[in-house]
Amino acid sequence: MPATPTSLSDLVLSRTTLDRAAHRRRGPGLLRQLLTRPQTRVLDLFGDRAPVREGRLVLRAPESADVDRLAVFLGVADGVGGADLVAVDHSDEEAPEDAATMRSVGLDLDTHDVGILTTGLGIVNWQRTQGFCPRCGARAEVSEAGWGRRCTREGTEQYPRTDAAVIMSVIDDDDRLLLARGTRFGGTTNRMSVLAGFVEPGESLEHAVAREVEEEVGVSVSQVDFRGDQPWPFPASLMVGFAARATSTRLVLQDEEIAAARWFSRRELADALGDGSLGVPPSLSIARHLIEDWYGGPLPEQAGEKW
Ligand SMILES: [Zn+2]
Repeated sequence: MPATPTSLSDLVLSRTTLDRAAHRRRGPGLLRQLLTRPQTRVLDLFGDRAPVREGRLVLRAPESADVDRLAVFLGVADGVGGADLVAVDHSDEEAPEDAATMRSVGLDLDTHDVGILTTGLGIVNWQRTQGFCPRCGARAEVSEAGWGRRCTREGTEQYPRTDAAVIMSVIDDDDRLLLARGTRFGGTTNRMSVLAGFVEPGESLEHAVAREVEEEVGVSVSQVDFRGDQPWPFPASLMVGFAARATSTRLVLQDEEIAAARWFSRRELADALGDGSLGVPPSLSIARHLIEDWYGGPLPEQAGEKW
């Protein structure tokens, strides 16, 4: 593998212009204040969906019911004239017609909106699962304008966690790329991707790469180079991307997780995309960027994707 000095560029979900204004979170009653001010902008979140119109997130003025909803102060958004931004959770309600997922609109949103939506989804998804103190089981209330939870019995605070996950291209001495199909992709899909997995306690990122590749396909890797990273708030991951050099090529698949795996030359990959026998992940994903990083540029058109 030729050493490439540049790293992955333009990872969509890593774009942001949001100023989180974290120093304001401890202000007493900040959320209530913001939600009664007409100049505040509110982002409605319906589970993993948000209203999008003409390629822009729909932000609205606060309404009286908002003060009773789960809410998080996201920060100050320069794209909407420096307005304070609050995300409001509606996960128990039905999403409106124009609500879209990050997966479906992420590529079309501008940098400013991507930062707002990635942050809003990540923190609100965390808040929704934090009703009770993990130490003693008592009720936990929202603190720090939505960036924490405080136990109502002990006063202990919990803060959002980010799950570190590694994702890696594995490349052999013949400069072929390893792609695999997870069993969770389903039986009819033609999609294959690079390997990925969560970092375990006590592990470095590089060790996690080596362990996952060994576990999933039985291949050893040596050189593990960082290529880029992006948040993946589905629900709380940070995807850290690497390119790893294989020191063996025989594939021994872990049956429960990997349905298929094979080595591709660039020509084989282009042919498989062209004849519809292979689909690869969309440009929103770091997986796609790692594949193109190895390929040396944008991939040829896919003939079709079967799910
Ligand atoms: Zn407690």
